[in-house]
Amino acid sequence: MKLKKKKVILGLFMILFIIAVGSAAYLNIKGKQEIQYLTYNQFLQQINRGNIDTLYLIDDAKLEGKLKNGEKFETDNPRTENFKEMLLKNNVKVEERNQNTTITSLLGIVGFVAIFGGMGIFLSRQSSQQASREISRMSNIDVSEQNQSAITFADVAGNAEAKESVADLVDFLRNPNKYSKYGARIPRGVILYGPPGTGKTLLAKALAGESGVPFYAVSGSDFVQIYAGLGAGRIRSLFKKAREEGKCVIFIDEIDALGKKRDGINGSDEADRTLNALLTEMSGFHDNDGIIVIAATNRLDILDEALLRPGRFDRQIEVGLPDLNARYEILKLHSSSKPLSEDIDLKALAQQTVYFSGARLENMLNEAAILAAKENSPQIELKHIDKAFYTVIAGEEKKDRSSISLMDKKITAYHEAGHALVTKLIAPEYKVSKVTIIPSTRGAGGFSMSIPPDRLYQTKREMICSIKIALAGRAAEQIVFGEDQITTGASNDIERATETLILMLRRFGMNNKAGLINYDVLQKGKTFSIERDILRESKRLMADLYHDTKDILQKNISVLEAFAQELLLKEILNEKEIDRLFKETIETAS
Ligand code: ADP
Ligand code: ZN
Repeated sequence: MKLKKKKVILGLFMILFIIAVGSAAYLNIKGKQEIQYLTYNQFLQQINRGNIDTLYLIDDAKLEGKLKNGEKFETDNPRTENFKEMLLKNNVKVEERNQNTTITSLLGIVGFVAIFGGMGIFLSRQSSQQASREISRMSNIDVSEQNQSAITFADVAGNAEAKESVADLVDFLRNPNKYSKYGARIPRGVILYGPPGTGKTLLAKALAGESGVPFYAVSGSDFVQIYAGLGAGRIRSLFKKAREEGKCVIFIDEIDALGKKRDGINGSDEADRTLNALLTEMSGFHDNDGIIVIAATNRLDILDEALLRPGRFDRQIEVGLPDLNARYEILKLHSSSKPLSEDIDLKALAQQTVYFSGARLENMLNEAAILAAKENSPQIELKHIDKAFYTVIAGEEKKDRSSISLMDKKITAYHEAGHALVTKLIAPEYKVSKVTIIPSTRGAGGFSMSIPPDRLYQTKREMICSIKIALAGRAAEQIVFGEDQITTGASNDIERATETLILMLRRFGMNNKAGLINYDVLQKGKTFSIERDILRESKRLMADLYHDTKDILQKNISVLEAFAQELLLKEILNEKEIDRLFKETIETAS
């Protein structure tokens, strides 16, 4: 009797299951039949012709949309910045959707889970495990696996430092035993960080290619929208597969989707569980497994510290935007297989593409090639490059190609030159190790200065110097471009200058008016009138220091000019170049 009941229920589930699978498959096929695939370039052509009605923006590898004639299409997600803006400017309707919003597939999956869950209760424990394995296999995360990546370091141009650090790992992957014999701890995880399109994925693939090991790629953002428990399961099965394979490179793009700093408010449980599964798997490696996990992110500072601890992602490598020379190398590499007209000067093109990532440069050359092909032109001409340039920067302010971002570039050059020059002039004992106008992940431009480290205390003079050095960026902007053109680029500088000055007054007793008083102690008695005096005094002092700084720069305006011009030309100056330039120009100036 009991047995019969069980059989009936089981039968019912089977019927339900068949209906669900059948209808899901039917809907799927029906959906698929109506969708045509457009390559990304065909898609762009359709935009140009004004044929696109709507694009459904989801965070997925493929995007769906509707043509004006009602037909549906699918295309690859370029994941470029300003993609939405480009669409909007071309009068394409954009609808943002969450992943899997097509109700049918949602229902289908819910149905699956319910049925498998139901079956699991009735069937033995073993088959329930099988069922959940099925679910995770059917869940829509694809591990794109490219057994034996054909990409090598020859495919990565520029980025010398990052390339070197990654190349270090090749030998680990080839001979993990060699290192474990010496008791050396083999790196398990590496984080590549930097703006999109700078070649992080490319570097990871090249590592696998050079080492002759398989390459597995997943994206962190694929995990966050998934149903409870599946993300962690997916990680476990990924690593299981990797371990069976032996040596390999596992690439996790957009790791920040999993490993954002936990603030307790926005944390998603699913991301947490997935992250924990990842960390557990990584600490389970044996030293001679020869598995290296490479993760990529646009920003290092938002990552959970748990990820960065020793034995996890303890190597962090910056992959920045290419400088002039690197852009030239990338252009050379990607045009090597294209018939370029002789009058195209790649050096000049590199000059004009400041702030372009490698992906953008590649994209631009590809667009130019398509234009040339469409016209049956025997070669890619300058006009094709010109046009492609605009396609690639579509959505940005339209300016003449040679002047695009030139103003930005110029202001940055004078700003950074100001910092460097004032350092050289007022604190010759400081080292200026690098000045650049290429933005880093830390913000626009860059300037690095080191104060002699083997000292216990900072003197009053040094603190004053560092305030003036910080103010020098803004001072240079104002002198050269005028009060109206000063920029937000000085924001961090002003913050640092204020911090230093306030410490001098409130804590270090370095100002006569403020006296030898610690104002933090005083404030416990809430003496606000004193605070007002401090504020007045620091404003006055800061104005004086700014005035001095401007004065210094004005007296050496020809040197500032020379520094800025050199920066505009080379984009990065190292310590030697700075020293040489300073010596030469100061001599001719005096
Ligand atoms: P990321 O992972 O940093 O977003 P990708 O590695 O996906 O960037 O780069 C996308 C494409 O851009 C690459 O496939 C390649 O064609 C081109 N590219 C980017 N950086 C470089 C580079 N340094 N050298 C050569 N090509 C590059
Ligand atoms: Zn600055």
